[in-house]
Amino acid sequence: MHEIQLHNTLSGKVEPFVPLKAGVVHMYTCGPTVYDFAHIGNFRTFVFQDILRRFLKLRGYKLTHVMNLTDVDDRIIANAAAAGVDIRDYTKKYVQAFFDDCRTLSVESPEHWIRATENIDSMVKLIQELQKKTYTYDSEGSIYYRIAKFKDYGKLSKIDLTGIQAGARVDNDRYEKESARDFALWKAPKPGEYFWETPIGPGRPGWHIECSAMAMKYLGETIDIHTGGIDLAFPHHENEIAQSEAATGKPFVKYWLHAEHLLVEGEKMSKSLGNFFTLRDLFAKGYKPSALRFALASVPYRRQLNFTFDGLQQATSSVERLRNFAARLKNEKFPAGKQKSMAERIAKAASDFDAGLSGDLNTAVALAAMFDFVREANIAMDKGEFRQGEVKEAQDFLAKFDSVFAVLEDNDAEKLKALGYDTGGDSADDAEIEKLVAARQTARQKRDFAESDRIRKALSDRGILLEDTKDGSVRWKRK
Ligand code: AMP
Ligand code: ZN
Repeated sequence: MHEIQLHNTLSGKVEPFVPLKAGVVHMYTCGPTVYDFAHIGNFRTFVFQDILRRFLKLRGYKLTHVMNLTDVDDRIIANAAAAGVDIRDYTKKYVQAFFDDCRTLSVESPEHWIRATENIDSMVKLIQELQKKTYTYDSEGSIYYRIAKFKDYGKLSKIDLTGIQAGARVDNDRYEKESARDFALWKAPKPGEYFWETPIGPGRPGWHIECSAMAMKYLGETIDIHTGGIDLAFPHHENEIAQSEAATGKPFVKYWLHAEHLLVEGEKMSKSLGNFFTLRDLFAKGYKPSALRFALASVPYRRQLNFTFDGLQQATSSVERLRNFAARLKNEKFPAGKQKSMAERIAKAASDFDAGLSGDLNTAVALAAMFDFVREANIAMDKGEFRQGEVKEAQDFLAKFDSVFAVLEDNDAEKLKALGYDTGGDSADDAEIEKLVAARQTARQKRDFAESDRIRKALSDRGILLEDTKDGSVRWKRK
């Protein structure tokens, strides 16, 4: 096994991963703000942290992973007020959708799911601690953090603080680096807004204090890993550091990991560009959860992921190849015995796979290790050179692979059904499939095998299996 190395935004370097306590990892992930359905960009980041957690578990760490639901922030308050409903009622639908989406993408549940609205007490206590240490000041019923007092402010995002006016404030939870200001820890209620009655006055928490308070409550004052998308490094994580370290006097997080953003066809996702997709948008177009997971996982987290429909189609074929290989191992009868060279080949693939993930979670290298092996093993099988004695080792490697990538189980139809999609197909679909099957038959009769293979593959990508019968006719079925 290789030494695990991770890129730490704090140091700007790839560092050996050494948790605070041997064998144990405490990890916090900023969860979704449940004001709308999560989009595929959000899930790029959540799949990344899922690959990380699964890999750490595979390497034997005892993991305590916390993910929060931000179920109170500026956008939720505004949307709930506009809809004239309680914030809990407003967020309910999106919380449920998020859990369903995670299940559909095989994103494992963390050890603790927590909600901001259930941890207001801890946030109030943390603000009181900051008040005691004079890191705060009040203005019109709100409480602000005085960034000039925290000497290390900017160490994560490396912002330049010269020229920032002491005492200038920002009320929004989300703002750009150029607007670095004293930020709100506690916000006084505006008329009609939701608020809590607390010892520090009526109001609601700022977004940043939520994560500081919850991370420390569930994981301790110093935690091993904190993850999120790159847009969270500033101001959210910078402010988390300022709050937590000012209160405890201890380092808050040892390793900060940030995923680069997902773009769609090279552009930032936005509703106005018409390139904004939720998972459900893609499932409605007929794409499979496993293909989406594969596409999101296949690009290493520190590289921007350019999402394209071609890429999603390729991911569909890649998953299919893996599943076909697993089926071959399970169903075919190979000549008895063992072969040293194949055993060595499997061991090398497993080692390359581990090296890829150990090297700052390089999923592209890890996948190449698997696909190179599958290609060579398929050739060996075709030539009758793969032996029965190698089946178990190959299956063990596949299982190890899948404990991280989680795409082998053929359960897409089931998952889609659970989300309310009918995957049975309709008669218009059927007519088109019949046409393709007939075209393949014609190609075969003309001995145009390249064309017949192309059609078989196209059908397979759509989830259609062909069975050539002894009498020369062809049956097809949905997988
Ligand atoms: P939010 O619900 O806005 O707090 O975002 C949830 C997570 O998704 C955060 O970790 C964000 O950094 C991340 N995120 C938002 N947009 C993208 C994107 N386009 N690509 C990757 N991650 C994103
Ligand atoms: Zn957070």
